Amino acid sequence: MSAFILDGRAIAETLRKSIAIQAETFLKSEGVRPTLAVILVGNDPASEIYVNNKRRACESVGILSLVHKLSSNTSKESLLKLIHALNEDAKVHGILLQLPLPAHLDASEIIKEINPLKDVDGLHPHNLGALVAGTPQLIPCTPLGCAHLIKSCLPSVRGKTCVIIGRSILVGKPLALLLTSMDATVTLAHSKTTHLAEVCRKADILVSAVGKPALVTQEFIKPGAVVIDVGINRVTQVDGTTRLVGDVDFIPAQKIAGFITPVPGGVGPMTIACLLENTLKAAKQGLGFRHQ
Ligand code: NAP
Repeated sequence: MSAFILDGRAIAETLRKSIAIQAETFLKSEGVRPTLAVILVGNDPASEIYVNNKRRACESVGILSLVHKLSSNTSKESLLKLIHALNEDAKVHGILLQLPLPAHLDASEIIKEINPLKDVDGLHPHNLGALVAGTPQLIPCTPLGCAHLIKSCLPSVRGKTCVIIGRSILVGKPLALLLTSMDATVTLAHSKTTHLAEVCRKADILVSAVGKPALVTQEFIKPGAVVIDVGINRVTQVDGTTRLVGDVDFIPAQKIAGFITPVPGGVGPMTIACLLENTLKAAKQGLGFRHQ
């Protein structure tokens, strides 16, 4: 048996097409183009690539993206001034603060200042709190992307046993809450979890969000399980070149799992598509702008 590969690029493309149609309809009916403001502080090369990818993705579905590039020594006051202005700007429906920020800026303090109705990354305490309350509003993009991937191969997660490795506020914790709200039975594992392989082997759905290549070996996987690999790791090969891999030891895992995501081409494209989904949602629901 060989697992069915969940093609994140293809699933994201289907989602993007639907978003493009909805954005066009919204523009025609409301005269409003959904608009995302992206804030990039400093010149971290990886962040610049991510911001460019997001800008291109917005353009491809008819969402307007406005990139605000600030220097690496931008003060907290200047950054907050920009965020407050974007909060007040009725033409802006989504605000995304590209992370990480330079060391002198505390991301959690800054994120709190974003209008939660425009918080398309879903990381404002209000949106995380809504997940805790079981009434999700704007859901963080990577967990939302994982949920789409899971839904693409399972009609329902109700009653399914799910293990998530990694408890970050960006991925593991919100995903645990999201899958719990969908009636899965969730275990959140982390670096202090004992007998990790044994814990994971019970999972109908196994998600790894750690950032360690080949952490998830064959012995972690229940036969037929859905395996979602969030990890992104750059590894050096014997010939000195580098390539991207996930946390899952893919080839042996594929022999046991029922469904599995590749890296690259799995969760990554879904994360960007979900940012577009959240921006459209914020605009459509009239969240964050005064509908005149
Ligand atoms: P993070 O904040 O560093 O969290 C990593 C988590 O992994 C922590 O909870 C940590 O446990 C746990 N962990 C570390 N070593 C472990 C081990 N040996 N066994 C079990 N758990 C272990 O990372 P993150 O921001 O969540 O990102 C995780 C990975 O996903 C990274 O590779 C990142 O690049 C990738 N990522 C991908 C996307 C995408 O769109 N594809 C988006 C976001 C992140 P403790 O809490 O005990 O320290």
